[in-house]
Amino acid sequence: MLVSLTSTTPDARDLGFLLHKHPDRVRSVDVGFGQAHVFYPEATQHRCTATVFVEVDPVGLARSQRRNRPGGLEPYVNDRPYVASSMLSVALARLFRTAMSGKCDARPELVELSLDLEVELPVVPVRGGSEVLRRLFEPLGYDVEAQPIALDTHFRPWGDSPYFGVRVSGRHTVRRALEHLYVLLPVLDDRKHYWIGQDEIDKLLRRGGDWVKSHPETQMISRRYLRFGGYAREALSRLADAGEDCDAVAERQEGHEQAIERPLKLSEQRLEAVADAVRGLGGGRVVDLGCGEGRLLERLVAEPAVTEVLGIDVSIAALQRAQRRLSVDELSERRRERISLQQGALTYTDPRVCGFDIATMVEVIEHVDIERLDVLAEVVFGHAVPGAVVLTTPNREYNTKFEHLSPAGLRHGDHRFEWTRSEFAAWAHSVSDRFGYSFEIDGIGPQDPDCGSPTQMAIFRR
Ligand code: SAH
Repeated sequence: MLVSLTSTTPDARDLGFLLHKHPDRVRSVDVGFGQAHVFYPEATQHRCTATVFVEVDPVGLARSQRRNRPGGLEPYVNDRPYVASSMLSVALARLFRTAMSGKCDARPELVELSLDLEVELPVVPVRGGSEVLRRLFEPLGYDVEAQPIALDTHFRPWGDSPYFGVRVSGRHTVRRALEHLYVLLPVLDDRKHYWIGQDEIDKLLRRGGDWVKSHPETQMISRRYLRFGGYAREALSRLADAGEDCDAVAERQEGHEQAIERPLKLSEQRLEAVADAVRGLGGGRVVDLGCGEGRLLERLVAEPAVTEVLGIDVSIAALQRAQRRLSVDELSERRRERISLQQGALTYTDPRVCGFDIATMVEVIEHVDIERLDVLAEVVFGHAVPGAVVLTTPNREYNTKFEHLSPAGLRHGDHRFEWTRSEFAAWAHSVSDRFGYSFEIDGIGPQDPDCGSPTQMAIFRR
C-alpha cells in the first residue's frame, strides 16, 4: 500500500525537515505487521514528494493472532496488503511520530507553516463511495478527486470495485494533514484490523480533538473510527466536554475584555457602527459570522431594511445565550421567520452561509489561529461570496491607552493575535485582491493622533 505527500510550496524540500526524513535517503522501520519505507521520488525546490510504502505480511499477522480469531481463510488472504487502511495510519504514526507531535528542532519556524499539499492514495476502500469521501475531506478545506477502480478491466459490465484512486489537495500544516490522514483512513475503510481498546479513544482525542469536534461529520467519524457503539459514545461525550471547557474559559475571558474596554462603551459603539454600515449597504439578507451571544443580531432583526438574519457560531454555549437573549421562542411570527441560529465553524466550507447580501464578522478573526486565516478567507470570500463583508478587529496600537492592560498584553485571553493598522490594511488588501472585492477601512471609538481608534472596521464590497 502506498501514500504520497507532496508539497508545492517553495522551498518544497522543507518537507524533508518537517518529516524528519532526508530526501536523499530511504528509511525503513518495522511496524509490527510488516515493513514501512519512506522515500522521495521527487525533491526539487518547487515540488517535493514523500512516499510511504508499507509491506503488510498478512500471513504473519494471521499466525500471531490466530488464538483470538474464528476459523476461515480470510485472515490469510485479504485486501490489507494492497489498500490504504488503518494499517497505513499506524505506519504514518510510527514513521512520523515527531512531525505529528509538532516538533522540528532543525527548523522550528516551519511547524506552523501552511503548505500547499497533495495527498495521493492509489487504492482506498471507501465504504459509502465518493460521497462519503467528499463529506469527510471537503469540510477540512481539501479539493477531492476520486476515481472508482473497475472490478475487472477485462469485464467492464461487472462494474466498479469498492476501491477508489484518491487525490486530495489543500493548504495545511504538515502536522495537521498527517492528523487528518491518521484519523480519516480508518474511517473511510470502516473496518479496523485489530481489536479496539480504551487507548484508541485517547488516540482519537489526541490526534483529532480540536478539528474532529467541529467537523460536520463528527458523529460518523467517531462512530466509524471506534466501531463499537459504547466507545463512540464515550469519545463523543469527551469531545463535547472539551467544548464546554473552552466555552467556560471564553465566557470568563469575554468578561475580562469587556472590563478593559468598558470605560469607552466600545462594544456599544462597535455594534452601532456595524449596524450603520449594514444600513448603508442597503440591508437585505445578512449572516453574522461568529455571532456570539447575538448582540448584533438583536439590532439587525429590528432594522426594517434587513429581511433575514442568520447567526453562526462554533460555540453551542454562545448560541444558547443568543437564543435566550433573542428569546426566539417569544418573537412574533414575522420576526421569527427572519432570524435563525446555527452552529458552524468558519474554517469549513458551509453551503448554509452562501448567497447572502452581507456578512458581518465582529471581533471574530482575532480568535482564529493565524495559519487558519487563509482558510477562513477562502470560506467567507471565496465560497460564501457575500455581496459585502463588514468586519471589525482590535487595533493593537491602541492597547497602550488601556489602563488595565499591560503594554504587551492582548485584550482577550483567547485572541490569537491583534493587528496594528498597517497589518490589518495589508491583510484586507491581500483578501480583496485575491477574491475580487474593494475595501475601505475606518476606525471605531475615540481617535488618538498617534495610535488611531481602538477598533478597526473594514467594509468589503464585491
Ligand atoms: N460577534 C460577537 C462575538 C465576538 S467573540 C460580538 O461581537 O459580540 C468571538 C466569537 O467568535 C465567539 O462567539 C466564538 O465562539 C466565535 N468563533 C471563534 N472562532 C470561530 C470559528 N472558527 N467559527 C465560528 N465561530 C468562531
